[in-house]
Amino acid sequence: MRRCMRRWYLSHYRQLKPRSDRLSESSTTGNLVHEPLAQWYNNSQDPLATLVYESETMILEQENLMVEGLGENAVSMIDQNITTVKNSAAFAKIILEGYLEWLEEEGADSFLTLIEAETELTVLMPIENFSEPVSLLAKLDARFLDQRSNANRFMDHKVVQNFSDREKWAQKDPQFLFYGLVEYLTSTITNPGEPEMWTDGGILNMLRKVKRTASATPPFYKRKDVRHSLIELQNYFIRLSGEITRILQTTEMLDKGVDHHLACPPSPTRDCDWDCKFFTLCDFMDDGSDSEGYVEASYEESNPLERYASVPGLRSV
Ligand code: SF4
Repeated sequence: MRRCMRRWYLSHYRQLKPRSDRLSESSTTGNLVHEPLAQWYNNSQDPLATLVYESETMILEQENLMVEGLGENAVSMIDQNITTVKNSAAFAKIILEGYLEWLEEEGADSFLTLIEAETELTVLMPIENFSEPVSLLAKLDARFLDQRSNANRFMDHKVVQNFSDREKWAQKDPQFLFYGLVEYLTSTITNPGEPEMWTDGGILNMLRKVKRTASATPPFYKRKDVRHSLIELQNYFIRLSGEITRILQTTEMLDKGVDHHLACPPSPTRDCDWDCKFFTLCDFMDDGSDSEGYVEASYEESNPLERYASVPGLRSV
């Protein structure tokens, strides 16, 4: 909801996702790096074998979308998506191979004991004046025990174009604040007084998206500690409480039939055309077109929290 209330309305309240969508190379490369790393950290599974499996599965999914009578545009999009997966897989292979070498050379993980990769932390928001109980849920790329401090650390993998942009943004990144808060609340509420549960913030694990040819300039991998003070976490907690209150109030308005133009107005920016899956629909919702007909033809229902399905009783807000 932070970025755009209309986008939240379509993706979370209406739970819509495009039936088929153009894949972006950067997010496909990111996905093809994340899953092999998760399997490698959790099960010591060869990341390159996981990469092959994941990319072949993605290609198969695209091929399965090919059905007779599909329009020229849809066929061309599927062809393009298959090319995107192949290009992204080639990049991911270079990134993963180099990452393993870098770990070996630098010993970057030598003081970290894995707790779990792709782990979910969930904690009840300790506030009583919400209209209903609210759980916070964080899906962490990996969680470790830092042997130097005996503290828990979470790690987030990011495939980046360059380090400096990501590093500058890291301290303000709401994702790190959220994970830090959930870790802190988990340690103080769920396991009070258990010193072994104390948490010492996150590690930004940056993997540069570069082909590492002879002319490329290292370093290609870098880590940054991202820690928030108790004051920062407290202020973020207040900010988050406000966001949750707005989500609950907006949901109630929509449930009561308030027009979405009033409850969830759009926040257009110049980025909309590349960062929103509802770009065309968004115009149709305002210009008198048959937007619901377009929804029926081009979108399907899908729970945006599907990947958290292992948490019982979760509902999308
Ligand atoms: S296109 Fe822009 S304004 Fe419209 S829903 Fe998407 S993010 Fe919001």
